[in-house]
Amino acid sequence: MTPTSPVEQVELPVRIERLSELAYNLWWTWSRTARSMFEQLHPVLWRVVEQNPVLFLHRIEPERLIAASQNLEFLARYDQSVASFERMIGEGQDQTWLGRNRPEMVGKTVAYFSAEFGLHRALPIYSGGLGVLAGDHAKEASDMGIPLVGVSLLYRQGYLRQRINHDGWQHDEPARLDPRAEPTTQVLSPDGSPVVVEVDLADGSGPLCLAVWKVQVGRVPIYLLDSDVDGNPEWTRELSSRLYGGDTEHRLRQEIVLGIGGVRLLRSLGIEPTYWHANEGHAALHLLERVRERVLGGKPFDDAVEAVRACTIFTTHTPVPAGHDIFSHSMMERYFQNYWPELGLSREEFMALGAHGDKAGFNFTALSLRLASNVNGVSEKHGEVSREMWHDLWPGSSATDAPIIHITNGVHLRTWISPIMRELYDRYLPRRWRDRQEDSLMWETILNIPDREFWEAHITAKQALIDEMDERARRRYAAGDFDAWQMLSSGPFQNANVLTLGFARRFATYKRATLLFRDMERLAAILNHPDHPVQIVFAGKAHPADQGGRSLIREIYLKARDPKLGGRISFAEDYEMGLASLLVAGVDVWLNNPRYPLEASGTSGMKAAANGVPNCSILDGWWIEGWDRRNTNGWGIAPSELSGEAQDEAEANAFYEMLEQQIVPMYYDRGPSGLPHEWIALSKEAIRTVAPNFSARRMVIDYVDKLYGPAARSCEGAREAEAVTVS
Ligand SMILES: *Cc1c(COP(=O)(O)O)cnc(C)c1O
Repeated sequence: MTPTSPVEQVELPVRIERLSELAYNLWWTWSRTARSMFEQLHPVLWRVVEQNPVLFLHRIEPERLIAASQNLEFLARYDQSVASFERMIGEGQDQTWLGRNRPEMVGKTVAYFSAEFGLHRALPIYSGGLGVLAGDHAKEASDMGIPLVGVSLLYRQGYLRQRINHDGWQHDEPARLDPRAEPTTQVLSPDGSPVVVEVDLADGSGPLCLAVWKVQVGRVPIYLLDSDVDGNPEWTRELSSRLYGGDTEHRLRQEIVLGIGGVRLLRSLGIEPTYWHANEGHAALHLLERVRERVLGGKPFDDAVEAVRACTIFTTHTPVPAGHDIFSHSMMERYFQNYWPELGLSREEFMALGAHGDKAGFNFTALSLRLASNVNGVSEKHGEVSREMWHDLWPGSSATDAPIIHITNGVHLRTWISPIMRELYDRYLPRRWRDRQEDSLMWETILNIPDREFWEAHITAKQALIDEMDERARRRYAAGDFDAWQMLSSGPFQNANVLTLGFARRFATYKRATLLFRDMERLAAILNHPDHPVQIVFAGKAHPADQGGRSLIREIYLKARDPKLGGRISFAEDYEMGLASLLVAGVDVWLNNPRYPLEASGTSGMKAAANGVPNCSILDGWWIEGWDRRNTNGWGIAPSELSGEAQDEAEANAFYEMLEQQIVPMYYDRGPSGLPHEWIALSKEAIRTVAPNFSARRMVIDYVDKLYGPAARSCEGAREAEAVTVS
């Protein structure tokens, strides 16, 4: 534990002293009891600190803690939280899912490298879906007892805070991250001094020193490298500052820190992974570093590569070109001219590792594909697209037989099912349903939930979203930085009785956020229908450098004020995991209209469906697999055969038609009970079909069976071969 943590300075009453331990393990974020325990302690402050329990305990008045330590209701929650925390921590690996189901994998550690981890809104070291997926993977690994160790970066200016100005332009405020005010502890050596890892940026400035922080996620530790260390040159301290907004060179340096620094970090902590998982090409350099270790140990380069490949899993996440890191040869030369000799390579041989056909530059996805023997895309369609994109790296292989499989993404249900729905599931599903969440048959019991209770819970979740949007707008107004127009665009006329569509994601242009605005007359007629009105909530951030994305946000923001649309469009600022939780549970339909086939998977729709919020989406990414082909668990829209404008036109029309003919009538079809029974049946069907198959549980089981198991086995094979060569 670091002596610099603020909580350390707080005197907790002895009866509740383990609050500090709970605050420092993100396990609380998916424990319903622990979460409500913190909140109950001081609901207003909990909100002010944005649910950061470390800051919370630092700021709370001592009198309140003393009162809590004598409050029986609070103590009951506290004791229950501590008891389940201890059960989780104390469980032997053989008692976990892994021990009971894949005993041969017990004790085999996987190192999981990712440039982002989306764990909780209070720790802004993620920017979007990729990070959230890594966070969900880590949480599920903890639940299942998989010995996973995460490696990432600590960004002192994390995920940007989004503010929209009067004219609709996104204004980016860096979220400042002070690791001493977060659930992170600095890693110290046995002698009490901070652990320091060194990497060389090969620019003559000498070694760059990296501090190491740990964030504990249930049973899973994630180590974060931090270049903001005294003694480093000023410009390098900046390196771990920005998650967003750096140039290509900044990016390369960060990836050197992550990959090369990450391997050295694990070595210095004495952690010996059995196998390694690179989440996206950002982590590619960790593969080179492992090759270098072997070459320095006397192995020929090719043998070293084979040994590394055997023990490596690589996941590629997007077909969109901007999602793949490509660095110029001259830049690679500057940073690696002292490195490739240590690999035993010439310049040409080194550059060839990042070649992709005759395309210019050094491609980190190509590098990863060459240095990993277990490779996957993130949905069935994306597997296909990836084989098409990359098969030329395997001479003689074709788009159909390139060795890239797919494992469709999934979401951590305990994180993403809203508290109110979870309470309902706890009441009506079998006891310990969460231990059987991958079991489709178990989910049939969702039908046990009476329609009235189901609907009331959904409306409660909807009201929670509306209240939060109102509260955010009110605070902005009260702070004097919101004018009447901004107030209007933030959605004060939301009504829990009106059919609400939600659209929230990064504003990348391929996601086509403004598709529904193509025909303003038709949209206005849908929104303003006198008996069956519709409202739409938008949210999402654009990459700071993406002018196209920023313009789309502006377009929606300005449309929200157009009187023709009746105040039924709103834009919620600052889409992050907290707002996402409220949105995926609190709207009635989750919309997605990407340009096919660019949505590799998408995960927000899975979160929505697990809460009983059906999807209406283009058949792309995960939804090709999730949709039941009958529109009884959500609505699927086939991509048009056309392209460009004509495609947008055709697909927009298909969405209008679906809304007019199916979605709106079904939502407002209320029997004598006042309940939309047909709609509720469809919502339950969404849960029944999506929750088991698109849970992180199912995803991690697939990783274990299709990639982790084979890697662990071939890796041991390689080790034995190595032992034989040595003897
Ligand atoms: C789930 C999530 C995403 C990913 O959603 P997509 O459907 O992949 O666009 C992005 N951002 C946040 C905050 C999320 O919670």
